Order: sequence, then C-alpha cells, then structure tokens
Amino acid sequence: MICEKMKGLVKGSSAIRAMFEEGRKMAAVYGEENVYDFSLGNPNVAPPEAVKDAVMDLIQNEDPMRLHGYMSNTGFESTRKAVAESVNEKNGTHYGAGNVIMTVGAASGLNVVFRSLLNPGDEVITFAPFFAEYRNYVANYDGVLIEISPDTSSFQPRLDEFKARISAKTKCVLVNSPNNPTGVIYSAETYRNMASILEEKQREFGTQIYLVTDEPYRELVYGDIEVPFVPKFYKNTIVGYSFSKSLSLPGERIGYLIIPSEVDDFDEVYAAMSVANRILGYVNAPSMFQLVVERCLHETTDISYYERNRNTLYEGLTKLGFSCVKPDGAFYLFMKSPMEDEKAFCEIAKKYHILIVPGSGFGCPGYVRIAYCVAYETILNSLPAFEKLAAETL
Ligand code: PLP
Repeated sequence: MICEKMKGLVKGSSAIRAMFEEGRKMAAVYGEENVYDFSLGNPNVAPPEAVKDAVMDLIQNEDPMRLHGYMSNTGFESTRKAVAESVNEKNGTHYGAGNVIMTVGAASGLNVVFRSLLNPGDEVITFAPFFAEYRNYVANYDGVLIEISPDTSSFQPRLDEFKARISAKTKCVLVNSPNNPTGVIYSAETYRNMASILEEKQREFGTQIYLVTDEPYRELVYGDIEVPFVPKFYKNTIVGYSFSKSLSLPGERIGYLIIPSEVDDFDEVYAAMSVANRILGYVNAPSMFQLVVERCLHETTDISYYERNRNTLYEGLTKLGFSCVKPDGAFYLFMKSPMEDEKAFCEIAKKYHILIVPGSGFGCPGYVRIAYCVAYETILNSLPAFEKLAAETL
C-alpha cells in the first residue's frame, strides 16, 4: 500500500495534466484540428538549429567517457563557468563556476533548494496566482506554503499582506516572473519594496529569509520590458533557471541554480545543494545537455512566434468581450471567467472543444489560464469557438 503522504498527493494530482490527457482523447474522436487545447505549457516552437548542431557535434566528436559519464554533482566545471559568464555579461555580476549548480530543470532546482533549506513546519511565502506545483515542492519537505492573495488590478505581489504574513517561521519567499499563469513581469519597484520588507523582518525576527526566484520564462518577453535581476535588490537571493522554455527543451530536463557568494552561510548552502542534487536521486544534471546548453547560452527559441500568438489571441478575446490580463512575457494568457465558478466555465468551454485551465489551481479562482504555446492556426481556428462560448456565457 502506498504511503499516507502520497495518497494526498495523488488525490490532488495536477488538473492540468488530467486536462491534457482529456485533450488527447478528444483529438482522437473529433480530429486534431478541431480541438483547441490550451492546457499545457509545452513549447511548440522547435529548438534553435544551434541545439541540433551541438548534439550532432558532441555525439560525433566529444570523448564518450566525458559525454556520458558521472561527474561532480554540481555539473561540468566548463558548463558552470560558461553559465556564470553569460549571467555576468547580461547583469554586470561577478559569479564564477562555484556559484552555479546545474539542475534537472527548474523543478529539480526548486526541490534542491527546499530540501536544503526547509525544516518541517518552515514557511514558504508565495504570491497568487502561482505555478500549481509549488504546493508539492514545498510539501515534499513538510514545509508550509503561505499563499498571498492576488491583486487582480495589477497582478503584482500584494506587499502589505506579504509584510503582515512574515513570521519567525518564514524561511523562503518564492517568486516567479515572467509569471505563470499571468505573463506579468514583476517590476523593479516591487522587488525594491519586497527587499526592504525582508531586510526589516530579518532584523525583527533575527532570522534568515531566502528569496527564491523561479525564472524559466526570463527570455520570453515581448517588447522592451526589463526583467529585473533579483539578486541586485536583495542579497539572500537564489535564482532558479531552466532551458525548458527558452530553448524549447522541456523533455531534456536541464537548468541551473545561481547561489551568489553574498547569501547567508554561502559555503554551507552551496555544499548542501550539491548533496541534495545527489541524494534526491538526480545525481547530476543530464551530461550531454549540459554541454549542449554550454554552447547555446546566447540562443533563444523564436519568441516572435509566441508574440504573434499573444497578439492575435488577446485582441480576439477582448474584441469578443472577455476581460484579459495583457501578458508581457511567458506564453500564458489569464482571462477573467465571465461566470463566478470558473471551473463550470471551463466545463462549458469543453463543449466547444476548448481546453483551458481553472485559476483555482493557481490560487486565483474566478480566472482561467490559456496556454498559447500552440500552432498559430489553433489560435485562429479557436476564435469562432470562443465566440460561441462568449454567446453562451457573457
Ligand atoms: N516553474 C514554473 C513557473 C513553470 O511554469 C514550470 C513549468 O512549466 C516549471 C517551474 C518547471 O520547469 P522545468 O521543466 O524546467 O522543470
């Protein structure tokens, strides 16, 4: 029999995945082109050519013992050095290989962080709406996730409530920008104010509070909007990054953590995260894809594809009378449900073969998430279906 804890986790298992499975079934019945599946954040733009070139070259020319072998739990020195240099170049920082740990995507990076920092009962504060898996990542280590309610006027973090909820038990604050599910980018002002609250509370409680910033969408930004580099605002910041979206490599499982030397107890924290990478069973990030990303740090997937999707979908839906948050980044559109019960709205959408995800899973009921990392034709073909949905619900 499975353990008690897993029973709870299986029961609450991702509604998004369930919807994706449902989409597959619907496509088999109605035909792929007649189902508008906006459920999953799975990139549909191919990785840059440079990724393929790197894979081919590595397979043909790299020493197979290096390419496929075990290594340091933190990853290849050459990869970590290249990552540090690329981050330095973009942000004017001074990191070295010793500030980087290669991870099995952003998901494993966050698990490594929480494994290393949380005692049972420690609190992690996050801001709704947030990536639904955060609940699991924190529960894995018997932490307690504190959800700050959403500010639906701007979808920036609600800092007054945040300040009031910090306690002696607060160990981490977890932020994600560009945000899944809203596409909103947290502003420099938000981080400046958040940092001053954190400094004040650390002094008040005599504790260390780590700000963990989850950034798989850092490069997916439309227009000239800056994504602030969070360690510049607060020294106890740990950055989690992933190539899942920026290079369209979610199945390859590759990302990294940056642990700046300024964080409290740096040596201990870095060593713990290296051990956590091993004992959680990841051992090290995938060897070949470490070497691939090392060569592709200046590459990104075709962001203009997502931008066109965003523009067409946003304009189409607002013209129909739906109220949407205009996303500045990532590839999600957060739309206000015309019905109070957004789960019922998502059920009605299925009648028109539209698969969208209820906001409750992201801690924000009354809204729905539309993942527009789909073919442009899907967006165009879905608009008449959305029109019918509008006629029935608006
Ligand atoms: N964090 C956020 C906000 C995400 O949206 C995702 C994936 O969709 C992840 C983490 C997990 O990413 P990865 O595939 O790199 O583990």
